[in-house]
Amino acid sequence: MSAPLETQLLINNKLVPASDGGQFELFSPHTGEVVAKVAEATREDVDTAVAAALAAFPSWSSLSPAERGKPLKKMAELVVSEKGSLAQLDALAMGRPVSTYFDSNYAATHFNYFAEAAYPQGHTSLNTPGFLNMSLRQPFGVVAIIIPWNAPLVFFSKKVAPAVAAGNCVVVKSSEKAPLSPWKVSLWIEKCGFPPGVINVLSGHGNVAGAALSEHMKVRALSFTGSTRTGRAIQIASAKSNLKKVVFELGGKSPALVFEDADIERAAKETENSINWNSGQTCMANSRIYVQESIKDKFLEAFTRFAKTRRLGDPTNPDVNHGPQADKTQLETVKRYIALGKDEAGTTIDTGSSSEKNDSKSLLVSPVIFANVPEDSRLTKEEVFGPVVVINTFIDEAEAIAKANDTEFGLYAALYTKDLERAVRVGKKLESGMVGINCTSPTGCWDLPFGGWKGSGTGRESLLDSMEHYLEVKSLYVRAPGIGGIV
Ligand code: NAD
Repeated sequence: MSAPLETQLLINNKLVPASDGGQFELFSPHTGEVVAKVAEATREDVDTAVAAALAAFPSWSSLSPAERGKPLKKMAELVVSEKGSLAQLDALAMGRPVSTYFDSNYAATHFNYFAEAAYPQGHTSLNTPGFLNMSLRQPFGVVAIIIPWNAPLVFFSKKVAPAVAAGNCVVVKSSEKAPLSPWKVSLWIEKCGFPPGVINVLSGHGNVAGAALSEHMKVRALSFTGSTRTGRAIQIASAKSNLKKVVFELGGKSPALVFEDADIERAAKETENSINWNSGQTCMANSRIYVQESIKDKFLEAFTRFAKTRRLGDPTNPDVNHGPQADKTQLETVKRYIALGKDEAGTTIDTGSSSEKNDSKSLLVSPVIFANVPEDSRLTKEEVFGPVVVINTFIDEAEAIAKANDTEFGLYAALYTKDLERAVRVGKKLESGMVGINCTSPTGCWDLPFGGWKGSGTGRESLLDSMEHYLEVKSLYVRAPGIGGIV
């Protein structure tokens, strides 16, 4: 094994250690070895980064949109040409299989799109006699961006690109579980041509750097993707400090409904992929599947068959499509829910493979299927974030909708049926930000709003929607007796 990487913070285009020299060790979830010593940002580092962003804001925001777009385009090129090394870093840090790495293409599309999309406009109004009125849309100043670990570059790009394109300067905090790919990207920021202070990248834990950003008086907007629990803490910190604008993409407990007229093979294959992709560590994974009673056995057989084809192992091996859980904490959480399920479920199918059982160091968990689980159990209500699915049944449409909606989350719901009228009728009743009809997550599209209802979030992100989050609105009332009026 090679020597551990040593990462730094990027503040004002300088790579620096933490102000107190602090570091934390990052362990490979596959080998258990230390893969990096990561700089642990302090409150002082947060203050320095916010000050750098604040100082950069006047000149950055006064550039033309095309000028601000140039470095974004260079970043788009780099994330694609460096796809292999970025994929390796996430595999090392949190066990994401390199075979599943679509993140570079996603990021390049977002950097490229926002490089050309920053032409926000307000309204004009002639409806007040004697006035020519208008609304302006202007950047906030300093925006904080806090991202999770399950797809770091996806969240980095979908938030940083629109924020800086709109004229803001940002301080990004990566996740303590996956700081390596954001750190790698930070090495390219000056080379791309971003002036000092426009993009600052910190690594560290939530309770220090994340909390300091959430309560910072000079941060005017904060975009967060992560758990509902942390979202709530950030909301409180915002309210207690300067009421900064917060945008949340949070957790899920997404249902999939499979009606008896559905293509059962397709439904089983896609729902299995949804819950087990990234080892179940996906916000919109369909972790609750409701199958019409008459097709229960057929569906369960097909689902189990697909789950047993997962190729568990070393995430850096291109033949593997199911890596370990991200770290020991994740593993312990998943194991706790599995133990709970074994107590409560009517049926347990553990697809456990020998590779998992023989390898004591890797944090691998093979898919576990629980059927006939009480609707009020914790396993049915809480987000597990692991390869653990609940498969329950329903008798009719009304029961299916009621069960799907009986949750505090509302990120992504799916339904499978050949009856188009039913599909739309049910789709309209599902309390969810996204609904897949004859498809399930991660299927979506990058130009429609991505986000959740209820406890799954407050924001909607997409190529067309995200810039809204990073612009303030101002109404300008201009007394103009000579030219005001509607004619
Ligand atoms: P998390 O909430 O534990 O951490 C997310 C980020 O918040 C990390 O950078 C962490 O350091 C930081 N953080 C932790 N405590 C903080 C605090 N008190 N103040 C400020 N920042 C703090 O989530 P996670 O474990 O990294 O990610 C998994 C969660 O994210 C799951 O719930 C998943 O559903 C959700 N998620 C949602 C989406 C979406 O788009 N809706 C996408 C991916 C992940």
